[in-house]
Amino acid sequence: MTERRYRYVGPADLLSAVKPGEEGHAIGSPGDLIRWFTGRDAAELAEPFTYVVDLTGTLRLAPRRSEHVACAGGAPVLGAGELTFRHERGRWIVYEISNQSTGYCPDVTTWPAVRDALDRAGLAHPGDFTHPVVFRRCPACDERNVVRDDDYHCVFCDTELPAAWNVDPRA
Ligand SMILES: [Zn+2]
Repeated sequence: MTERRYRYVGPADLLSAVKPGEEGHAIGSPGDLIRWFTGRDAAELAEPFTYVVDLTGTLRLAPRRSEHVACAGGAPVLGAGELTFRHERGRWIVYEISNQSTGYCPDVTTWPAVRDALDRAGLAHPGDFTHPVVFRRCPACDERNVVRDDDYHCVFCDTELPAAWNVDPRA
C-alpha cells in the first residue's frame, strides 16, 4: 500500500512563519535521541514532544510547543502527532503516541509509517497509537471535526461524516 502524503491544512500564517533550517531534529538511532536529549532538563523530557515523519520516512522531533508545520519545515508528512518517552532498563522507549496534529490532521492509518520510522530509529514503541484521533471534514459545512465515541456526525451541523479520511479536499 502506498503511504499517503499529508499536506499542511492549518492556518496559513503558521506556514508562512516557517523558517528554513528550523525543522525538527532527525532521529535515526537511539544515539541521535540521547545526543538531542543532552542538556534538556528532566521536566522537559517528561512532557510530550511534537513529532513528524518526513517524506523520507525519518522521525523528526521538536519540543512540545513547536508547531508540526515548523517541525516538518513546511513540507508534507507521512505522519505527525505527539509522543512521550520513558526511561526503562537503561534505554529510552516511546511510552505514549498519538496522531494529534491539527496542522496536518493525519489519519489513524498513518500508524505503519510512524511505526517504520520508530523502528528505523531503533526506538521501542507501544505497537499502535495509544491516543488515536479521528479527523474528518464535514462534507456539508466544511468544518473540521474530531470524531469522539464513534459518533460520525458533524458537531457543527449534525451532518453524517464519511467513514474514510477526507480532511484535505485536494488530496
Ligand atoms: Zn457540518
